[in-house]
Amino acid sequence: MPTQTDIAPVRILPDDVANKIAAGEVVERPASVVKELVENALDARATRITVRVVAAGRRLIEVIDNGHGMSEQNALLAVERHATSKIRKATDLEAVITMGFRGEALASIASVSRFELVTRRAQDASATRLRIDGGILRDVEQTGAPVGTRVSVNRLYFNTPVRAKFLKGITTELGHCIDVVQRHALAREGVGFQFLHNDKMLLDVPEHATLRDRVALIWGLNFLSDMVELDDEEAGFRFSGIIGLPGLTRAARSHQFFLMNRRPVSNRSLQYGFEEGYRGLLTIGRHPVGIVRLEAHPRFVDVNIHPTKREIRFRDERAARNAVRLVVRRRLEQLAPKPSVPVRETPDAPAPEEFVSEASPDTRAPEPPPRRAAPPPQWEAVEEVTAAAGESPPPPERPPEGPAQTELPGVARGAVAPVAPEAAYQPVGFFEEAPMQLFDTYLLVPGDDRLLIIDQHALHERLNYDNLVAELADREYESQQLAVPIVVEVAPSQVRLMESNLDVLERLGVVVEPFGGSTFQVTAICHLYDEAGVRDLIYRALDELGQGDLFDGEDVMPDLLRLATRACKASVKAGDRLTPQERRGLLEGFRQLRPPYTCPHGRPIIVELTQRQMEKSFKRVQ
Ligand code: ADP
Ligand code: MG
Repeated sequence: MPTQTDIAPVRILPDDVANKIAAGEVVERPASVVKELVENALDARATRITVRVVAAGRRLIEVIDNGHGMSEQNALLAVERHATSKIRKATDLEAVITMGFRGEALASIASVSRFELVTRRAQDASATRLRIDGGILRDVEQTGAPVGTRVSVNRLYFNTPVRAKFLKGITTELGHCIDVVQRHALAREGVGFQFLHNDKMLLDVPEHATLRDRVALIWGLNFLSDMVELDDEEAGFRFSGIIGLPGLTRAARSHQFFLMNRRPVSNRSLQYGFEEGYRGLLTIGRHPVGIVRLEAHPRFVDVNIHPTKREIRFRDERAARNAVRLVVRRRLEQLAPKPSVPVRETPDAPAPEEFVSEASPDTRAPEPPPRRAAPPPQWEAVEEVTAAAGESPPPPERPPEGPAQTELPGVARGAVAPVAPEAAYQPVGFFEEAPMQLFDTYLLVPGDDRLLIIDQHALHERLNYDNLVAELADREYESQQLAVPIVVEVAPSQVRLMESNLDVLERLGVVVEPFGGSTFQVTAICHLYDEAGVRDLIYRALDELGQGDLFDGEDVMPDLLRLATRACKASVKAGDRLTPQERRGLLEGFRQLRPPYTCPHGRPIIVELTQRQMEKSFKRVQ
């Protein structure tokens, strides 16, 4: 706690300063109020901040801190527009390191709510309480209260009904509120955060929680095993934080946080630099996760370009971007000396040295659902059998299924030829022997005028997927009651998400019941699942459900089913030697497939080498 002399009294800003500061919309939605109040609490050097909201903040937003509090005089000044203790003259702007400096948040909030502020400094015998209704000061009195500040915002927008109408649903607004608190909780080691909704604790991050603890509490324990710490220096920036291995990705940039001198910031260069650090290691369309903390002299940064202060600009944007890229790259390379060399796929073993390259995209995380139509076949590419036959092409997009297909989607191009589907079927149909296995990874199926090469893992995944989809679509599907329920512990912040998605899990063939607090138990599962994979399935499904605009709209079921495929029994992996019987079984499965010939993640199952291509390679024909 600071001593009293550290604390500048609140003062009214001179006009020129006020005018220099962009007046932003402070109270756009409940989450904006949460943000302002939490930032004020942090500025007051609180070490414990409790945020309570009722009805997603529309009824009540209350922020309680144990910071330095205010005198009566300062409390009164604090609710005046442009009152701030943080800037005295315009030149101070450069050195502003606190969160807030516009001096209008409290005034704005108090003008659109029934507002109460109770605050006490350590040296005062009593606390000051003031109430403001829609901007009108109702009363000021002395009362008893602990040291610190409590701001209660009741009935936000009660006097601006138009504004109230623009609010989204409870889940969306609540989601934004939690997001604000989570960001700060991830950013602020040394500060404890609690978040309660309708008196239910959704987040409880103790003061002494480390960054790792925070990640576990907020993103879930399952994240941690796939993340590594940063500790490095580059171009005048000191780096710390924690970043995901290349296999841990999201469909959006939802799990990327950048902190500049301990403040959460948003900045394009940091974002680009971060992603560039993973170049070549991620599947197209996926984004890495991480919390990157930078420290540098405030002179390197310009924080005042955006009224809500998250946007920052670096004096040298390029240098910042390069620094992030280098530091991330360096860290990843420490784990795998040559990350650009494709490493063989081992989907279920999250060992840190296993990298996902573009050639094996789905090692740890699902790809985005392939939605767009396939590009037209590249006939030119067929003209040459290149020496690069071992190189996988980028995963083709999966076209919509339908009878009107003329090309063979999912058949890899480059060294191989897309042909009419029936041609691919033919040789398979006539094949009686068990196919030969190559590199313990591919099945070779010779036909009349071509050789089909099947990726055993991709095929098996696809078969599992189709099987699962068919099974779960069947109302009467077989579920297996578990003799011993599987206990699943989720992150406190995910409890609500879990509770509101029990039906979704059930549709996935996993019957889950609350078991008190953040504990749940799985009582029955679809018979296709391996019990050992169910917990992981739930964690991954929660991650997926927690993404985006918090489960508003958008059918996530196909993504979830793709995830669920991993929990299916006995998965055939690349590198597994198969018995003749297993090989025949897979081939039989392939025969039943309908196009597109891709695995659930959109990678090809089959490539082919035609006789003509071979003849051209050997210069038998032109
Ligand atoms: P700003 O944060 O931009 O200065 P605000 O309207 O958010 O403007 O707050 C006005 C002033 O009130 C702050 O400068 C600070 O001195 C005081 N204040 C606000 N919240 C708190 C708090 N939780 N604890 C102590 N002082 C506070
Ligand atoms: Mg403020």
